[in-house]
Amino acid sequence: MQDLYRQLIEAIGEDPQREGLLKTPARAAKALEFLTQGANQDLHEVVNDALFESESSEMVIVRDIEIYSLCEHHMLPFFGRCHIGYIPDGKVVGVSKLARISDMFGRRLQIQERLTHEIATAVFETVQPHGVGVVVEASHLCMMMRGVQKQNSCMVSSAMLGTFLTSDRTRSEFLQLIGQRRAF
Ligand code: ZN
Repeated sequence: MQDLYRQLIEAIGEDPQREGLLKTPARAAKALEFLTQGANQDLHEVVNDALFESESSEMVIVRDIEIYSLCEHHMLPFFGRCHIGYIPDGKVVGVSKLARISDMFGRRLQIQERLTHEIATAVFETVQPHGVGVVVEASHLCMMMRGVQKQNSCMVSSAMLGTFLTSDRTRSEFLQLIGQRRAF
């Protein structure tokens, strides 16, 4: 990957031998490897059996999980916040695991809609709850730095599974609790 970055630096008309750029290929390769490592991770290893029995069937919500990803169309970052809610059916998952699940799907070449869906499906499959709702709000650098240059636009995507899909009341409760005024 370092060689490719050296070629890339040349291709944009820069000199890979100038002092400031000498170590850039190594640094950039390491960074990209980190930012895409989610593609090689396994969901079961990430969750690592952090499931606990629970009698509760009240909605659990983790709000404002920071999310960073790379859009697969431009390989530029998009970033924002992710909100996850579910209604347990005998099991709950450690809170930090929800953040790890969103990191796992964020750290790869993505589109926001798929990212949202993959997080919801992963929670649905591991926790086996009555339902799951995920909302992602993100800003895309490919829109902000180039193209239409809309600096303040924010894309909102949602994925609803189980009772979050079938029950208007559950979905409204979730959207209200995460402070999402938009109707889906
Ligand atoms: Zn893009």
